[in-house]
Amino acid sequence: KPVRISILGLDRAGKTSIIYRLKTGTFIHTLRPTIGMNVETLTIGDVSIQCMDIGGQLQFRNSIWQSFTRGSVGLIYVIDVSDKRLYAEARTYLWKTLKFSHLRSKNIPVVVFGNKIDLSPHIETRDLENFFGITKYYSKDIRVFLTSAKTGEGIKAGIEWLSEKISHRGYHTQMNFFRRLLA
Ligand code: GDP
Ligand code: MG
Repeated sequence: KPVRISILGLDRAGKTSIIYRLKTGTFIHTLRPTIGMNVETLTIGDVSIQCMDIGGQLQFRNSIWQSFTRGSVGLIYVIDVSDKRLYAEARTYLWKTLKFSHLRSKNIPVVVFGNKIDLSPHIETRDLENFFGITKYYSKDIRVFLTSAKTGEGIKAGIEWLSEKISHRGYHTQMNFFRRLLA
C-alpha cells in the first residue's frame, strides 16, 4: 500500500521548488506561479511526496488542504522566512492544519521548513519556533528546520527527521524510499 507525505504552505513559499530540488538536486529561478490547482508528485517505490498549489483559491484553502492531507503519514509545512508580512497568515494556517482530526488522531509528524533562509540568513530556528508557537509542542513530533530550495540547505536533514518519525510509526518497509532520496 503506497504511503503519502504531503507538502503544504502558502502560495510562493517554495513547495514546488522543494519538490524540484528533491527530484533533480537543482534549483530553477524561473518557476511560474501556479494558476489554478495543481498537484506535483515525487514517487520512489511505495512512497510519494506530494505538494499542492491552490493558485489563490483562498476561500477554499482549509477544506482543500483537509482532503488533500487525508491518508498522509507525514507533513511538510513550508514557510517563506524572507517575507515577515506573511508570517501571521502562515501561522494561522499551520494551526488550522494541525487541528485536522485525521492528522491529530494518528499524531502525524510535521516538519516545518523555514524556507528561503538564503535570503534571510540572520533568522534562527528559535525565532520561528517562538513565533509559530511550536516550542511547547515538541512532544507532538513537530520540528522546525531552516531550509533553502536554492542552496539545498536543511532539506535532507528535515526529511531525515521526518522519515525517522514515520518509521517509528511502523512504516519500516517504506524506508528504502528515504534511503534513495537521501543518498
Ligand atoms: P510554491 O508556490 O510554494 O510552489 O513556491 P515556488 O516553489 O513556486 O517558489 C516561489 C518563488 O520563490 C519562486 O520564484 C522560487 O524561485 C522562489 N524560491 C523558492 N524557494 C526558494 C529559496 O529557498 N530561496 C530563494 N532565494 N528563492 C526561493
Ligand atoms: Mg508551486
